Amino acid sequence: MLNQIKGLHHVTSLASSAKENNDFFTHTLGLRRVKKTVNFDAPDVYHLYYGDETGAPGSVMTYFPFPNAARGRPGAGEVGTTAFSVPKGSLKAWTDRLSAQGVEDLATGTRFGDQVLTFNGPDGDGFALVEVDDDRAPWTGGGVPEDIAIRGFHSASMRLGDSGASAELLTFMGYQKVDTDGSVTRFAVPDGNAATMIDIESVPNAPSAEQGAGSVHHIAFAVENRARQLEVREALMDTGYQVTPVIDRDYFWAIYFRTPGGVLFEVATNEPGFDRDEDTAHLGEALKLPSQHAHLRDRLERLLEPIGD
Ligand code: ZN
Repeated sequence: MLNQIKGLHHVTSLASSAKENNDFFTHTLGLRRVKKTVNFDAPDVYHLYYGDETGAPGSVMTYFPFPNAARGRPGAGEVGTTAFSVPKGSLKAWTDRLSAQGVEDLATGTRFGDQVLTFNGPDGDGFALVEVDDDRAPWTGGGVPEDIAIRGFHSASMRLGDSGASAELLTFMGYQKVDTDGSVTRFAVPDGNAATMIDIESVPNAPSAEQGAGSVHHIAFAVENRARQLEVREALMDTGYQVTPVIDRDYFWAIYFRTPGGVLFEVATNEPGFDRDEDTAHLGEALKLPSQHAHLRDRLERLLEPIGD
């Protein structure tokens, strides 16, 4: 069993409008845009990163907004809900805030004994806010008061038709089964960062998800550094997983592999971080281009939709 994985690093999803996506995360949810860059493989598409002040691993939601992309269809084989942690007693204020801003499908409930507010993002993305004690410092530059502001990820919930093999994989990755609530099983990694939980919702009769705007593209797990990442890569390959080579993503190094339930997993390093190419005080303000796309700057600055602050 591995012990290098320390929880979530980031969650990456697809969107249909960069501007709407940016408004939702920076203004409605009050996260900080910590990087404005482009997709390595499709540089005419943004890659937008939102998180806490520094973009700490375990706080970072990232998006590829493909203009006018069709919506995905929710189903089995995907991450259905991405959950953020908020302070206890804050959900009433969040309900008022989100409904005033026209956010759809707000619903409150209890999961694993915690108060939860679920809602949809601009493309039908499944989100939840969970009331928990969490001592992470929130970003407050987005206009959400400190006493209710998002602290970072709480968990990610996968919807799977056949959950057994993915449960085994999580256990191999160092997660332990900690609780069940109805059809949902919760796993947590000990000694991790503040985003240690993964839920598996078993949906044996659901049709397969179709990826599109509002779908999670992949979830990334955090390892401290490249040495730990290589250990994880080797162990996964010894177990029979097809794992990509290590890829330099400028702000972290990444490896990817497809899991038995259909969800794409990444393992990403905490190093070097988002202050690699701009000061923490100005994260996310300027368009940053991967070096192989730097020569496209003039064209991309004309082509990419302005998204504002
Ligand atoms: Zn990623």
